[in-house]
Amino acid sequence: MIAVDDLTKNYGKKEVLKGITEHVDQGQVIVVIGPSGSGKSTFLRCLNLLETPTSGTVSFEGQQLNGLAEKDLDQLREKMGMVFQSFNLFANMNTLENVKLALMKVKGLSDAEADEIAKTQLAQVGMLEFANQFPDSLSGGQKQRVAIARALAMNPEVMLFDEPTSALDPEMVGEVLSVMKDLANNGMTMVVVTHEMGFAKSVADQIWFMADGYVQETGSPEAFFANPQTERAQDFLGKLL
Ligand code: ATP
Ligand code: MG
Repeated sequence: MIAVDDLTKNYGKKEVLKGITEHVDQGQVIVVIGPSGSGKSTFLRCLNLLETPTSGTVSFEGQQLNGLAEKDLDQLREKMGMVFQSFNLFANMNTLENVKLALMKVKGLSDAEADEIAKTQLAQVGMLEFANQFPDSLSGGQKQRVAIARALAMNPEVMLFDEPTSALDPEMVGEVLSVMKDLANNGMTMVVVTHEMGFAKSVADQIWFMADGYVQETGSPEAFFANPQTERAQDFLGKLL
């Protein structure tokens, strides 16, 4: 579904991604882990070309994204929902309006059509009862669930998550992970950058371990956590304990 081939990304002289070749199959849940600064966010943002790769290619469903006109790229981006650490909800709109906005502005749906989809998605993440509340009056976990509903409302084929629970108080992490777990169980293709090793172990089909600008190691969670192959991964896991 997604294929990256020899992807590199430099910021000035700094080589952040040094040549990544990997693919994500439909229905797969990939969990990307690795030390801070290893390029996880940069990699994720390259998957939908929010970040322009320095070299190499990214393809989605067989179509190469590099070099596409911005308009065509936007169409493909609609198929890739993205959720960030920092929610990015619009403060001047209530929960329901936040979810409806892109449905109306981007997909061109009527108010009534958008309303129905938005309410269905809010119900799915347990947030329908907060439809009329503004982001300021929601907890972090609730805001993140609205952000997930907003992404899902666009009917994406893959969901990209960049540390969706890192900004949350510990007691709210579970409610967001549980929504993500449901999504995974329903067959959503997902690429998740996270430090939640419990989630990685129980939900991932594959772990990708990133360090120093490379995907150093990939494998099933069972294999990776029990028996990491590279010294870099052994070191990383050792520090978690
Ligand atoms: P973390 O776990 O802390 O989120 P990460 O693995 O997501 O880290 P990235 O955010 O991808 O790492 O950053 C990788 C490197 O690229 C870092 O050294 C960072 O400072 C640098 N970097 C990221 N974005 C930019 C940018 N827009 N301009 C310059 N350097 C950047
Ligand atoms: Mg990051």
